[in-house]
This record gives sequence, structure tokens and C-alpha cells, in this order.
Amino acid sequence: MNKQVVAGIDIGGTKIALALETLAGERVAARRLPTTVELGPERILENVARSIEEMLAETGTKLTAIGIGCPGPIDIERGLALSPTNLPEWIDFPLVETIKKRFCVPTVLDNDANAAALGEYFYGAGRGFRDMLYVTISTGIGGAIICEGNIHHGVGASAGEVGHTIVKPDGRLCLCGTKGCLETIASGLSIARRMRETLAASNGKTTEDLDRITAETVVEAVKKADETAQKIWDETIKFLAVGIGNAITLIAPEAVIIGGGVSEAGELLLKPLRCEIGKNVTMLPIEKVEILKASLGSESGVCGALILARQAVKKMHENVY
Ligand SMILES: [Zn+2]
Repeated sequence: MNKQVVAGIDIGGTKIALALETLAGERVAARRLPTTVELGPERILENVARSIEEMLAETGTKLTAIGIGCPGPIDIERGLALSPTNLPEWIDFPLVETIKKRFCVPTVLDNDANAAALGEYFYGAGRGFRDMLYVTISTGIGGAIICEGNIHHGVGASAGEVGHTIVKPDGRLCLCGTKGCLETIASGLSIARRMRETLAASNGKTTEDLDRITAETVVEAVKKADETAQKIWDETIKFLAVGIGNAITLIAPEAVIIGGGVSEAGELLLKPLRCEIGKNVTMLPIEKVEILKASLGSESGVCGALILARQAVKKMHENVY
């Protein structure tokens, strides 16, 4: 009999990661496809399905379940991608139904931050902790809460959105419609924007110079002791410590795992962040909360999608026996 495997699909705005693993967690195949957004969801998923079929044929394995991570907002219960910002044509797209029809196996959907959090919890920096808060700081700020191995979804499956907690009342308008969210100050895009605004106001930089600024160039400038960059960075840390500190006070997790592009700054981010959070969190022993960088990089999403699939297999067995 063919070896049984689960498939993980991690859909991103630029790439889709696919992987097959045995039920024991052994990786048997992996692929990455470009997300050719202009093809639209049907053709993109056709390419995904064909790649999975090829991987199954190449490895002589039998599929038992599929897990999918997709940028939010999504409708987990109905298996829909609602209108992800970087996938403009995916409006109320029946993601689960499309994949399920093709493979006829249990198919589970969750948002990309939740999937990445599961990946880190089971395979990465979150291993060994009971409860975990995951924060991803990239173009936006996402988050997820894991309690004893399970995602805490909450109402509307929207728990863990640290990026949309208000850290500056009456601050800048956020894409979510409210004002002063953490994301409007400390996301990668916001860090770059604040640096541009400060430089534009203070000296004669050309538009071209300003356009080149990203969160990454701000981090590089901090390393070179640039005063303006340091000021922007200190402010970023201060607000991250408010948002993440509040989340720690509420959830009291054993670990906070920080992923996303901005986390690549490593200890330049984490060391002052631990210090500031230490000042803000007083109601629990903060020294017992590990604040660590995510360790799986771009693999976290597909790892989490595989966990979703494995959890679906487990649930199926529990229902049968
Ligand atoms: Zn917001």
C-alpha cells in the first residue's frame, strides 16, 4: 500500500509553498510556485493541484488530508478567501471547496499568521512551550495565539491581531478603519514611511533618495549609528513594547515568537524590546516569558499548513473510533 501523506499549501502574495509529509512528520517532497496574481484564483489553484498530483506520483504516496494557509481575511467555516489585500481577485473565493473537489480528502483552511504560528510552535522557535503568542512584523503586523497546541480563533476567527490594537489613540488612520493601531507605527511599511517623513522634513533629500528607504535600510542605518534612524527605531520599539506588552499581560504566554521581515534585525530588535516590555508588564513574572525570533523563516507557513492537515487526520480518526 502507498505511504500515506498530508499536503501543506501556503499561499502568499508572491509565492506559494507546497509540501508533502508522512503522518509521522517526515518531509517527502516540497515545491515553490510563483503566485502569478494576474492568472486569477482558479488557474493558480489549478497549478497548485497539478503540482501536488505530480509530487504524489513522483513519491508514490497517497494523500489523506490538506492544510491551507492563506492571507486574511478568510472565512474558516465556509472555507473562503474573502478579499486578501495582496490577492485582489480572490473575493469570496471558495478555496476549500475547489481543492476538496479535486482531491476528495479533508481540507482545512486558516489564515497565514495562524498557520505560521502553528509551524513555529511545532517545528520552530516555539517548540516546548505550552502557550505562545506569535507576532509577525513585515509589511503589516499579524499575530496568533496558540494554547496547548491549538490556535485560539475567537469570535470571527480573529484573535491575536496585535497589529490592530490601538497604541496611540487618535493616531494615524489604519487600513482596518480605526486610528492609531500598532501597525500604523511599527510595521515594515510604517517604519519606512516614518523615516521618509522625518528626513523629508529635516533636510534636502531627493525624492529618489526617499523612495529607496525601506525598513531594512532603516535597520542598516541603525547599525551604522545614524541618529535619525536610531530615533525612528527607538520609537518603533517603544510602541511594539506597548502593543506586545499589553498582549502579554492579557494572555500570559510562556513565549512570544516574533517573525516576519523586520524580525531579521535579530537582537537589534529583541534586546531593547525585551527591556521595554519588562518595564510595561508588571502583573506577571515577565522573566518567565521568552521573547524569541522565529526560526523557520519563509518555511513557517507551509509547516503550519502541514500541521493543520495532520490535525484534520487526527480529528477524522477520533470521529471514526
Ligand atoms: Zn488597524
